[in-house]
Formats: sequence, structure tokens, C-alpha cells
Amino acid sequence: DMIKTENIISKTEQFGANNYHPLPIVISKGEGVWVYDPEGNKYMDMLSAYSAVNQGHRHPKIIEALKDQADRITLTSRAFHNDQLGNFYEKVTDLTGKNMVLPMNTGAEAVETAIKTVRRWAYDVKGVPANQAEVIACEGNFHGRTMTAVSMSSDEEYKRGFGPMLPGIKLIPYGDLEALKQAITPNTAAFIMEPIQGEAGIVIPPEGFLKQARELCKENNVLFVADEIQSGLGRSGKLFACDWEEVVPDMYILGKALGGGVMPISCVAADKDILGVFNPGSHGSTFGGNPLASAVSVASLEVIEEENLVERSLQLGEHFLNELKSIDNPVITEVRGRGLFIGVELSEAARPYCEKLKEEGLLCKETHENVIRFAPPLIISNEDLDWAIDRIKKVLSV
Ligand code: PLP
Repeated sequence: DMIKTENIISKTEQFGANNYHPLPIVISKGEGVWVYDPEGNKYMDMLSAYSAVNQGHRHPKIIEALKDQADRITLTSRAFHNDQLGNFYEKVTDLTGKNMVLPMNTGAEAVETAIKTVRRWAYDVKGVPANQAEVIACEGNFHGRTMTAVSMSSDEEYKRGFGPMLPGIKLIPYGDLEALKQAITPNTAAFIMEPIQGEAGIVIPPEGFLKQARELCKENNVLFVADEIQSGLGRSGKLFACDWEEVVPDMYILGKALGGGVMPISCVAADKDILGVFNPGSHGSTFGGNPLASAVSVASLEVIEEENLVERSLQLGEHFLNELKSIDNPVITEVRGRGLFIGVELSEAARPYCEKLKEEGLLCKETHENVIRFAPPLIISNEDLDWAIDRIKKVLSV
């Protein structure tokens, strides 16, 4: 019965570079919170493609926008204007309150863009001497896999064999205000952080840190950059995870759910006094701001608003978190989360539990060896969530 799945996996592994370790399941179809393998087995998606599918798989409104736009024009490059990019800008400025946007495709590219922006801002606006700009990042961060992003990483395996790394980066422990204070110099361009660290295992900063760090940056003319690629757009139960402390960063980095799990699209949003440092020729991307992704993104953002996905995430997340906290098993060392962005930390490897959950029909992925991440699409119904909770209890109870 598993012949299709086995053949597909073996073909994939025969030709593919070995940079991932997927669970042994093939997904060939999906709808909403549900995905199916070639044999027709049904699973609930508890990962949402690392929060890129917050709107659920193949949301009808997003697919309609994709098809409509595919029938008109898909790619113009930025050598010409297209008639969809302006709508995308308008939507993102509306949501972020920022008045300038720069579109890219993947999260890592948006992070690259953010670092280029803050460096140029440091020289052109702040007056940092040439090539002296510094960026402060946090230990345990995940900003992607490009050289700039891995240069900021504290994980040796992300960097091994890829040197030399980008200079001008300082790391502080996540959530350590005193360390941030010590790290800032007159040459500091920016402090970049995830308001909730996703890949590190759903790590929430100590209460007050976001607000105090934001203030400290303001006092020192240092840009506060929030990487909301995973935590943003409703995932944490607020539109942005920064909203948990009513913090408005100087710059938002967005991606993942910005494209509704349908098209890769990312961006940086900030005000003109910051993003205005770019001029024609200084930055770009062939696919960045393409009309197909722009149209899909507008629909994706409308779905978040129209279906109150931020509020749903908050309400369902609270219920989910409480149910997970009620599980009595000494192997569970901590249950933490905000909205439908939840980590269950274990005192042993999480992978065997993910494999058992798969047998029960739930697709989860361990993060950092010993954390199970629960992050279903935000459109999940109360009934489907309770179905999942029953199965998780079965697997995690002793
Ligand atoms: N930043 C954060 C916070 C992320 O979680 C991710 C992806 O997991 C990225 C950046 C990189 O995004 P991408 O994989 O689209 O390059």
C-alpha cells in the first residue's frame, strides 16, 4: 500500500542534496488544515510550513486571486511597472503603519535587504564612518540561510564550512537588556530580533524586554528591526508579535504567510527616512514585487482580516495552551506559547513523539531536538483543534 510513497521518497532522496531530514511522509494534496498522502491517508498539518500557511492550504480566495492574475500577467520585472504592486504596497503600509515597502521573495532575502538598509542608513543618515557599521543580533536567532543570515547565527552547524562570515555583527543573549546596553556603540546601526524566536523553540522574551529594548534603541539612535517573518501576521495571537508589548519597531521584516502559502513573497516595511536610502541600482530582485505574488499577497492579507485570524489565533491558542499544560507527564519540562504558536519542551528527543503523532494523524516537526512545535493553520475550527488535542493527549500522556 505504501509503494507510491516509498518510490517518491526514494526518487527524491536519489537526486536531492541532503540538506533536510523530513518525516517519511509524502504530501500530494491539501485543503485547509488537512493534507493527504498518495495513498489517500489524511493528516492534520500542525506545522503550516513554518507558518507560511496561516490561511490554510489552498484558501479559495487566494487560489482565485492566483488564477485570475495568472490569466493576465505574471512577471514584468521591475524594469516596467505592473498594475498589482501598488495594491500590495497599499495593503502592507495599511497593516504596518509604515509608509515605505521594499518587496523581495523569500524571508532570507528580506533579511538581507534589512541589513543593507540599516548599514546604508548608518552611513548616510547616522554618520557612521565608512565600513564601520555594526548590527546587534540575538543568540539563538534564526534569520534564514543566506551568508548574512548565517553570519548572524549562533548555531555552529549553520556556519560550519561556510566561512568567512560577514563582519560587523555582535550577539547578545536573547532578552538581555543589560547586554544590549553594553553592545551598543556609536557605530551601531541596528538591533535585529525576532519578538518570539520560532526556530529556537518558541522562545518568548522576558516581559518588558521588547519595550525597554525599543526605548534603548531610540535613545541611542539605533534602529529596532523586528523579524516578524514567522511570528507576524496573526501567528502569535496579535497581528505582530511586537504588539504584545505595544512596540512599534523602526522596521518590520515580513514573509511566509504574506504569500498565503501560495507564492513566495517577502518585504521590508519602514518609514521613508530609513527605506529612502535606496536609489535605482542599489538593490533589487527579478521576481521581487511581481504581479502574481502581489495579487496573491493582497488576497492573503485580506483573508487574515476578513476571517479574523488574529483573534482566532489568540482565542484558540489560549485554549490549546491550557489543554497542553494540563497534560501530566514528567517528560514535559515546559509548555509555552502565544496564540497558535506553541512549543512543548521535553527532557528527551522530540522526534519519536513527532513520529507517534504522525501515526495518530498529526504532522508536527521537532525544533531544536527537544521541542515539539504546534502551529496549525489559523483557520482551524474549534472541533478540529479539539480532535488534535485528544490525539496529542493520547501520545503525550503516561
Ligand atoms: N526569519 C525568520 C524569523 C524565520 O523563521 C525564517 C524561516 O524560518 C526566515 C527568516 C527565513 O525565511 P526563508 O526560509 O523564507 O528564507
